[in-house]
Amino acid sequence: MASDPSVRSAATSPRFARGGKDTFFSYKNDEMHAEGVPLVTIAAQVGTPFYCYSAGALRAAWQEFADGIKGMRANVCYAMKANSNLAVVRLFGELGAGSDIVSVGELQRALAAGIPAGRIVYSGVGKKPSELMAALQAGVGQINVESTAELETLNAVAGQLGVRADITIRVNPDVDAGTHEKITTGRKENKFGIDIDLARDAFALAGRLPHLRVRGVAMHLGSQIDSLEPYRGAIGRVRELIAQLRTDGHSIERFDIGGGLGIVYSDERPPSVAEFLHMVDKETSGLGCELTFEPGRRLVGEAGVLVGEVILVKPGVPKTFVIVDAAMNDLIRPTLYEAWHEIQPVRQRPHAATIRCDIVGPICESGDFLAQDRDLPPLAAGDLIVVRSAGAYGAVMASTYNSRPLAPEVMVDGTRFAVVRPRPTIEEMLSAERFPPWMESAKS
Ligand SMILES: *Cc1c(COP(=O)(O)O)cnc(C)c1O
Repeated sequence: MASDPSVRSAATSPRFARGGKDTFFSYKNDEMHAEGVPLVTIAAQVGTPFYCYSAGALRAAWQEFADGIKGMRANVCYAMKANSNLAVVRLFGELGAGSDIVSVGELQRALAAGIPAGRIVYSGVGKKPSELMAALQAGVGQINVESTAELETLNAVAGQLGVRADITIRVNPDVDAGTHEKITTGRKENKFGIDIDLARDAFALAGRLPHLRVRGVAMHLGSQIDSLEPYRGAIGRVRELIAQLRTDGHSIERFDIGGGLGIVYSDERPPSVAEFLHMVDKETSGLGCELTFEPGRRLVGEAGVLVGEVILVKPGVPKTFVIVDAAMNDLIRPTLYEAWHEIQPVRQRPHAATIRCDIVGPICESGDFLAQDRDLPPLAAGDLIVVRSAGAYGAVMASTYNSRPLAPEVMVDGTRFAVVRPRPTIEEMLSAERFPPWMESAKS
């Protein structure tokens, strides 16, 4: 099994312990703030658990891409599956982002957030005819096709609508992104893309289909990639492919690099966005392709936290369990990917001795933990904790398991904050369900 670079057994993360470069979530008078707002203020108003996003951090992350592509023929489509809250998507849209979507639900979200259809790229390994039709009707700018079967289906759907679909073909360059096995996508044994060795045949087929317009090649290697090498290797392979395709008579104008750039959960040292973009610029020089980048995690991950409250503390041997009201249904990454998230108390006690503990939720599953074997200052019922780097693949992967309402989402901007998705009431949750008409109780 490939090891997740965010898995750590050690107790404290150097970056957050040092205070790091982070100015968007930091202690002031020993109270953790999101920008200018104390997290306790939000907790008092919204209740716990809740997600909190810093608009300043989102803008800063975007700006690194905006600066880095200056002088390049490139565009950035935010991969909204990382965090599809409408306010987050709109914030990026207002800054000039397009969207990388993977479903019709995300298509509607992108449009509702004000993303122009022409700036939407539609990715995904299994798009249904009805979904392709919805995308073409909306006028999405590009569909990234991942199989020959999809080429045929899309051609048929576009024919019915009397349009020609602008496509790229996503190839699988067979490189190991060196990330967790559940989030690597660019190896031969993964389901994504068309095997690069079969790509010429797929392009030949696409070239014969009258309702498709082949614009280029796409790839996406995986997620939480903390080295430039997988990208460099894959770009080299795709360059060779592009040369062959041009010899075969295809005009290849676009190269979609995908997303995947990693963030800091603990002590990772992912490349800077500037380094990444510079490398891509260099490796694609002379290729004559317009580039698309599809960052998800890198734009939102460090810009969000999950805040929970301690319900009770259960001392034990050899460790103590701190039971909090945030759980695996709110943030499943530790359970699903063995991911490591920094946990900090909202009220800091700099000189307190630490105890070794597991921070766990109240759900009836042994896998329900947020962190294990951490050294934290003693916590008591009612204390707030913050789970860092939770802005990506957090709220979007939440469920209502154990009939727990989805945690609300809050956006902070300077000294302002707003609830951008409220917590549903239990009544709202129940009202979505129905009794079958044959049940006795339904007649009353
Ligand atoms: C998930 C995904 C992304 C974003 O990945 P991150 O690791 O969040 O940057 C980009 N492109 C495609 C096709 C994806 O499936």
